Amino acid sequence: MIYYKTDEEIELLRQANLVVSKTLALVGSMLRPGMTGKEIDDAAEAFIRDHGGVPGFKGYNNFPASLCVSPNEQVVHGIPNKELVFKDGDIVSVDCGVVLNGFNGDAAYTFPIGNVSEEVMKLLRVTYESLYKGIKAARVGNRIGDIGFAIQDYTERKHNYGVVRELVGHGVGRELHEAPEVPNYGKRGRGLRIKPGLTIAIEPMINMGKKYVETSKDGWTYVTKDRLPSAHFEHSVAIRRTGVDILSDHSFIEAALDKNEYIVKRLHPATAGVV
Ligand code: MG
Ligand code: MG
Repeated sequence: MIYYKTDEEIELLRQANLVVSKTLALVGSMLRPGMTGKEIDDAAEAFIRDHGGVPGFKGYNNFPASLCVSPNEQVVHGIPNKELVFKDGDIVSVDCGVVLNGFNGDAAYTFPIGNVSEEVMKLLRVTYESLYKGIKAARVGNRIGDIGFAIQDYTERKHNYGVVRELVGHGVGRELHEAPEVPNYGKRGRGLRIKPGLTIAIEPMINMGKKYVETSKDGWTYVTKDRLPSAHFEHSVAIRRTGVDILSDHSFIEAALDKNEYIVKRLHPATAGVV
């Protein structure tokens, strides 16, 4: 069952996503070599609660934390901990969910810490650009398959990266994960027709090597089978008659990264912001 949202409901989703965006910006201002996932998770939870929200992931299917923190070869769903210390050259995917006024915000960003190799920066850039290619394809009259096709065509066919198959984007609203599924691969003109009021999270998970992933012993963390790095960027969006309305706002993150001296290299994706 797909829940199409009213304009009022879309505004509530925007408010929840605004807290998500600001939480990710806080994370972006803190990240540096020597830090742990536990530190950013504690700060994020306090920030979310200070802003009247509830961490959307904490307790979801018994997930134990507010953020998913997934460095390097971890794809998504990494559990923040005190043991794994971030080091110069790492990339860290941070996924954040917030429930505010009964609606879920959901967005993610992969942060480059310190001096990340050009090869890995390219993975981040292409993944981020693919998110916007997916968003552009999410317009009225297209189908869900057009979104996945746009992402897969750019990342897999053009850049020879691996698109994760086991994990997909999703509808988002009163529930964190609603119908429909929004795969990052697909065929043009297939799947559900996209209509105004549809609200979805688009979240390419792109591996530098092969597409294959496995779960680790904790039962949550997805890692690449070949242990090469993986990148992940996510926006929650609402489909409007006039275009795609991006509800999460990564400009807060970009502004925070500008001020963080430990973020040496910056993403300057060619397509970001243009929808
Ligand atoms: Mg997410
Ligand atoms: Mg999501």
